[in-house]
Amino acid sequence: MNNYKVLIGLEMHCEISETNSKVFSAAANNYSDIPNSNVRPIDMAFPGILPVVNKEAVRKALMASIILNCKQPEYIYFERKNYYYPDLPKGFQITQETKPAPVGIYGHLDYECDGEMKTVRINNLHLEEDAAATEHLPSGSLINYNRAGVPLLELVTEPDIHSADEAVAFLETMRSIYQYAGISEADSKKGQIRCDVNVSIMDKDKDETNPDNWGIKVEIKNVNSFGGVRDAINYEIKRQLELKEDGKYDEMPQQTRRWDEESGTTIFMRGKVDAIDYKYFTEPNIPKYKVKKEWLLEIEKDIPRLAHERKEEYINNYGISSYDAGVLVKEKAISDFFEETIKLGADAKSASNWITTNLLGALNKAELTISQAKMTPNHLAELIKMVKDKEISSQQAKGVFTESLNTGKSPKEIASEKGLKQITDDKEIEKVVGEVLDENPNVIEQYKNGKTNMVNYLVGQVMKKTGGKANPGLARDIMAKEIEKR
Ligand code: ADP
Ligand code: MG
Repeated sequence: MNNYKVLIGLEMHCEISETNSKVFSAAANNYSDIPNSNVRPIDMAFPGILPVVNKEAVRKALMASIILNCKQPEYIYFERKNYYYPDLPKGFQITQETKPAPVGIYGHLDYECDGEMKTVRINNLHLEEDAAATEHLPSGSLINYNRAGVPLLELVTEPDIHSADEAVAFLETMRSIYQYAGISEADSKKGQIRCDVNVSIMDKDKDETNPDNWGIKVEIKNVNSFGGVRDAINYEIKRQLELKEDGKYDEMPQQTRRWDEESGTTIFMRGKVDAIDYKYFTEPNIPKYKVKKEWLLEIEKDIPRLAHERKEEYINNYGISSYDAGVLVKEKAISDFFEETIKLGADAKSASNWITTNLLGALNKAELTISQAKMTPNHLAELIKMVKDKEISSQQAKGVFTESLNTGKSPKEIASEKGLKQITDDKEIEKVVGEVLDENPNVIEQYKNGKTNMVNYLVGQVMKKTGGKANPGLARDIMAKEIEKR
């Protein structure tokens, strides 16, 4: 391995989920509805039906292009990619190849991997339509046309990625961009993200900027999870290194393989000589149209705050640590929860602490996402206020939090049901402190002999006697005063 370096180029497909309708059809863009309920004649390739371009899909694609620092085209037009497959009733996919300028070319994206900044050059970003979804059963195959015509963005990187970790970090950054920009939920569990991974190895001391020095490209098709991307790359690196060691690498044909999740291996599909000829030509039913400069400027202005911008704000405006801010923005839904809680008047640092430690800890344990949590930002803001107003102690708050999370009840309701109320009355605490001191003459003696930290033990006894209801700060102050009087 020491003599070689790995080159990885990614082709990432992401469905644009945040449009009302499909990319060339008026059917609803909602794949997960009842199968075959979101279908218009064009999705079934009925003759004589013409495509109509969805402006919002183009707008979102151009927004992604701007975020990725790509060059946008002067005109938008589409191309036909011809092949036959049961999930493609038209017999062609409407897409954008590189000749008719796609929505983006020659961009770059900076991303962080293990605390280090890296850059990937983007070769192109193009807008196309998804195919229908096929489900194979023992009795036959079922086709769901809800997916036919769903807008799909395909991003093609240069082979600037050098390890499985970098590939996954890049994909996570892209997912975050799609989510924060409101382009897509980018949920791989819903099949919204699918990747083709290209891997080769080359001599370490050769110049990487010269493509002549690159190794033989092996494409791995349809890897559908980030874990799969990691495993497929690592498997493929190992396989190619073994070929090098056996002196067989140079005989290896350029090829397409498929990732087999079950066996954890890549399997040969076809070599370059069997490459499919898609006979591209310009889609005649969609006239080309001009992308106005003003429109691009408008789209650029509309780009929502992305994860790294929110992170900066949390650090600078709220004094939250860089680590915690990173945790908060990792998922948009969590960042939204945090911001909603603050909007409701909660102190930002308290909100951050509750979310990063208690909330995410509990969700992880229960294997739930934040959208499945019963607790709302309203509940959390209320809880934080109750602690701040000393209505309940922070110890009590932990129990209330857990119950609110499990039941969806409001913290106020839980506290009143449980009869929780913090004791903040000096007289009442003094009484308990007096009792504790009476019961522990030997502890007082140890204290007088210099073991001053025995105060902690005594305060602990006060908390115990009050069922955790005494305000701990008050209990401590009063104990310190009273013990001196003995
Ligand atoms: P094709 O013409 O076969 O589609 P491209 O040159 O367009 O191939 O590249 C497709 C993808 O493969 C891109 O993501 C690119 O970065 C990547 N790629 C190309 N050559 C290599 C290589 N030698 N090693 C790894 N990835 C490569
Ligand atoms: Mg492609």
